[in-house]
Amino acid sequence: DSYLNPNYTFDNFVEGDCNRLARAAGFAVASKPGVTSFNPLMIYGGVGLGKTHLVQAIGNFMKNKAGGKFVLYVSSEKFTSQFINAIRNNSLQDFMSFYMQIDILIIDDVQFLSGKEKTQETFFHIFNHLHQSGRQIVMTSDRPPRELEGVEDRLLSRFKWGLTADLQTPDLETRIAIIQKKVQAEGIEIAYEVIEYLAHSIDTNVRELEGVMISLLAQASLTRREIDLELAKTTLRHLVKDSEREVTVDTIIEAITEYYKVRIPDLKGKSRLREIVLPRQVAMYLAKELTNLSLKSIGYHFGGRDHSTVIHAIQTVNDLIDTDKEISTTVTKLLKMFRK
Ligand code: ADP
Ligand code: MG
Repeated sequence: DSYLNPNYTFDNFVEGDCNRLARAAGFAVASKPGVTSFNPLMIYGGVGLGKTHLVQAIGNFMKNKAGGKFVLYVSSEKFTSQFINAIRNNSLQDFMSFYMQIDILIIDDVQFLSGKEKTQETFFHIFNHLHQSGRQIVMTSDRPPRELEGVEDRLLSRFKWGLTADLQTPDLETRIAIIQKKVQAEGIEIAYEVIEYLAHSIDTNVRELEGVMISLLAQASLTRREIDLELAKTTLRHLVKDSEREVTVDTIIEAITEYYKVRIPDLKGKSRLREIVLPRQVAMYLAKELTNLSLKSIGYHFGGRDHSTVIHAIQTVNDLIDTDKEISTTVTKLLKMFRK
């Protein structure tokens, strides 16, 4: 068993600016394993950005090719516990010879090897053996090799022999494409406005995006409701409440409309009355302070305004904070309330 999940393929790995280089490098390795300049291949990036998916896609691609290569996927934690068991059972030799037969070794999350000297030493020997005999090594890490603390220098320097490529947070277009792909795979239909809303609301990582999609589908089937914008908003609001981690623009807009006694359609609308414009600008300012959303996505949530309007609002509120005691107090109070 190679411990590969057949669902992780290149076909369903959506390509975007955030992952283009890493994906191309992965595909090159999968097509021509063992070529020195891409050996080892090190993919790094934050949680939920697709490291495991991409390296498993490499493994699946090579496994399904003719030639009967021995592909193995292993997490660094599993490698460590196998190593510890081998010592305990006096079977280190078996452990070593098993790993030395592998044609393509994929080892996930090598940051977990940090501080584990003996495991690193063993991995070092396996690495050298495989590399010298032209076998392919693929690794992932949650940070670039230079930031891996507690990993021996001789191992680190080997990590840098080949090619290092990173995965970044997906941009808006990629998020839309990923949602569309998932929707398609589920065989359901969701209006484009819902997809757009989700893509503009979740910008952390793909796993989170998938989590929201799963909840949304579950909500829809439990309540026998159609997946519309309303359901998407409620689902997102509940998820945020449960996890207490992040603030959505919708929760900010609600709080602002309550605080200033204005109506949501007015806040999102075109009114230029000061009693509407100020709450609108404060809300955009809070959205910038409290979420990671891009100016473009913030503008989307305020009736589809463009990013220069958002910049203007933020600047205006910044100026007011310096010059207007009342507004400064209000903004501080609202920020505190959300950050609690
Ligand atoms: P990581 O290992 O970096 O934490 P994963 O590979 O587990 O992240 O990815 C998290 C989820 O997001 C998986 O279900 C994966 O299929 C999905 N995913 C990540 N990137 C993409 C992408 N570019 N296209 C499609 N799905 C993706
Ligand atoms: Mg992973």
